[in-house]
Amino acid sequence: METKPDIPPFWQKILNTLETPFLFIENLSQKYVLSPFRWLFKKIEPLSYKIEGTLFKKILQVAIYPLFMVLTLIVGFKLVENGFTFGSFLGTIGLFAVLGIIFAPLEHLIPFSRKWLSDDETSTDVMLFFGSKFWGDYINKPIKLVTITLIVQEISPEIGQGFWPTSIHPVLQVFLLLSVKDFFRYWYHRWMHESEFMWRWHAVHHSSTRMYWFNAARSHPLEGLVSSFLWGIPLAYVQAPVEVVFVTMLLGRTIGRFQHTNMDLILGPFDYIFSSPKNHRYHHSKNIEEGNSNYGGDVIFWDILFGTFYLPKGKIPSDDIGVHGMPNYPKTFTGLMLAPFTYGKIKKEAIALENKAKQESVSQMIEV
Ligand SMILES: [Zn+2]
Ligand SMILES: [Zn+2]
Repeated sequence: METKPDIPPFWQKILNTLETPFLFIENLSQKYVLSPFRWLFKKIEPLSYKIEGTLFKKILQVAIYPLFMVLTLIVGFKLVENGFTFGSFLGTIGLFAVLGIIFAPLEHLIPFSRKWLSDDETSTDVMLFFGSKFWGDYINKPIKLVTITLIVQEISPEIGQGFWPTSIHPVLQVFLLLSVKDFFRYWYHRWMHESEFMWRWHAVHHSSTRMYWFNAARSHPLEGLVSSFLWGIPLAYVQAPVEVVFVTMLLGRTIGRFQHTNMDLILGPFDYIFSSPKNHRYHHSKNIEEGNSNYGGDVIFWDILFGTFYLPKGKIPSDDIGVHGMPNYPKTFTGLMLAPFTYGKIKKEAIALENKAKQESVSQMIEV
């Protein structure tokens, strides 16, 4: 167990000052950017009660997932028909926007948890998205590109050539690449949960107290740096055709949106193939036995194979989610950005809070 000394008051003051402008932007976006959406969602809410128990709801619950998966494949291959062009890039942005526009109201129409519909975390998530976007596009991606190219060039450019089965159906190639990519991601994700040093970075993703489509944006930008190398280098050797890589990444995005959605979907066999909203809800559980399971990011069969799959029949995942044993975990953008560095302090406070609660319950018992 590692504990870090408290932050000196001088640094604490600097941190507080740093946080002020971000808090201001967060409050502003809470008030003005999100309010038109709130108006729309309020209109949908009575409908969600009206369709309760109807065949229409059942059809939505069953059809939405396969429909969007197939649509992503069709649109994806269409976008790279003539190779990867500027049009493919624009289409990708369009697809993400469409997913958001459709997903958000659907979550209000068929919610898994009504508690998760409150949007008090959205502004932090929007900031995390843009924060990660800047980091991802201007720092992480160039470093990754240069390093991977250099490593592949230095070690051996021949490795992997002729290895990829280009003759099989392109859709099968997409699923094959998705599985290969997720094998590396599985082990990285598992490592982040099983090592406390790695957990201090990954806990940011688990800090959300509600699951909704935009959650995937919630992660610490430094977490992505190591992960890029871990999945990037093996993928560079695989040398799948560019169309297959593009559609695989696009499908991965759609899976990621579903993985965190608050839609109450009926997935049947898909819960045992993909990282689905149902099995990923257990991954976000505050209960450590449930949380240290279902590490798959795209597919779930690596968990089944390596014994970390958790999906008990007849049980419904709890909607009380968050960082295990840390009710004091930061909630603001700056707090989350600093959380990996202040982890020792957060942990100390959490232990003190737990001891205090224990003492209170003991003294209450004595009084009774
Ligand atoms: Zn995790
Ligand atoms: Zn997650």
